[in-house]
Amino acid sequence: MDFARRGVMLVIASPSGAGKSSISRALFAQDPNIKLSVSVTTRAKRTDEIHGTHYFFIDVPEFEKMRDNDELLEWAEVHGNYYGTPRAKVEQELAAGNDILFDIDYQGTLQLYERCRKDMVTVFILPPSIDELRARLERRAQDSVGTIEKRLRNARTEMQHYGEYDFVIVNEDLEQSVQQVRSILASARLERERQVKLPEFVTELQAQIDALN
Ligand code: 5GP
Repeated sequence: MDFARRGVMLVIASPSGAGKSSISRALFAQDPNIKLSVSVTTRAKRTDEIHGTHYFFIDVPEFEKMRDNDELLEWAEVHGNYYGTPRAKVEQELAAGNDILFDIDYQGTLQLYERCRKDMVTVFILPPSIDELRARLERRAQDSVGTIEKRLRNARTEMQHYGEYDFVIVNEDLEQSVQQVRSILASARLERERQVKLPEFVTELQAQIDALN
């Protein structure tokens, strides 16, 4: 029996290049119940990115307006740019029983904990080694050498926050990591408080027992 349930806010975080984006893509491909929270950002669009799919690319005054009107569930400054999570979409999807994947950093995760802890399940992805992390950043080849160095230095800081997440996955093998995230999500979907129709269902079962007598 498939019960109506409230969606899960699934936060996946990692240092740049640890594999978070590949894991997220695979999750979407395999599970139509997962929606992406598309953030707003003031960073420049990369060549392969699409406005509205990867991010909503906006300018600083627009960002500040959204932030000041409390239209962002959380926001942070990362690598000198602003990033934030638009609130309205998240609330709609959760109520509709869809899970939402968040690709946000630890600062954003901490803010979400304050507001939405019960709805959240958080996963931190670590690279198997720093050589592999650098290789992945270089293969991506979207950033200049200076940016790659900056992202590696930032990775050190990001990593120290693994302790703030519910689950940690060392991403050695993409397929296995995706399966691990799917298992985490499957468990979260079964949590009692998310199964919003359970009280009625149990009452109904009890009524059926009563009717037997
Ligand atoms: P990138 O520029 O590589 O797309 O993202 C840089 C960092 O910003 C990543 O660590 C990513 O998780 C984080 N980020 C992206 N969107 C958001 C957001 O809406 N809020 C927060 N707090 N961080 C974000």
